[in-house]
Amino acid sequence: PKRHRIRLNRFRGSRAAPGRALRRFNLNSGFNALGLSEALVRAVSELGYTTPTAIQQQAIPAVLSGGDLLAGAQTGTGKTAGFVLPILQGLATRPALTGKSRKPVRVLILTPTRELAAQVGESVRDYGKHSRASAAIIYGGVSINPQITALKRGVDIVVATPGRLLDHVGQRTVDLSQVEVLVLDEADRMLDMGFLPDMKRVFALLPKAR
Ligand code: AMP
Repeated sequence: PKRHRIRLNRFRGSRAAPGRALRRFNLNSGFNALGLSEALVRAVSELGYTTPTAIQQQAIPAVLSGGDLLAGAQTGTGKTAGFVLPILQGLATRPALTGKSRKPVRVLILTPTRELAAQVGESVRDYGKHSRASAAIIYGGVSINPQITALKRGVDIVVATPGRLLDHVGQRTVDLSQVEVLVLDEADRMLDMGFLPDMKRVFALLPKAR
């Protein structure tokens, strides 16, 4: 499959109160036009979204088309839905590549902080409300056992901070060998926080094709 890199400029998105500021620009055009499935359109409608934000309009078709994407956008621009929605659609449309293990982890979303991991994980659950995909949220500073239980059940999506993810790797409670999509959310901040060595360790565990 062709791989292409799309670079989006930094958007001067609404800096005001998130949700509400975005909703003011609703023109009732909708997410259907971006090629999203009914299950996803329904989920965002229930959250009160009617119009894709600027970054969503550009990122969603780009990710759906299967290319790599480098996007710069401030918080409050709707960037999370910009990558989560097309990822959920991809999971629903494409069957898992191997029938090897139980349910393989197909999407890995790395974040610099546990707050962001929790937030992104919640978005995944909200947007995936009517989809079959399952997710585990993995971060440090809390007991590892419930995370192990969640991973054992088998999840399609892992949202994680690098350190705790590597703890799971060390304990063999997560297998990253089937990951198809990698998201580095706030990659610049991860680098600022000194996560590069951990990130490299994680990259080394992903399928070589990436
Ligand atoms: P984010 O930039 O991903 O942190 O999203 C900021 C806020 O905007 C979140 O509270 C989202 O629920 C909300 N949001 C994202 N996309 C839309 C949309 N298309 N319409 C209305 N609200 C949205």
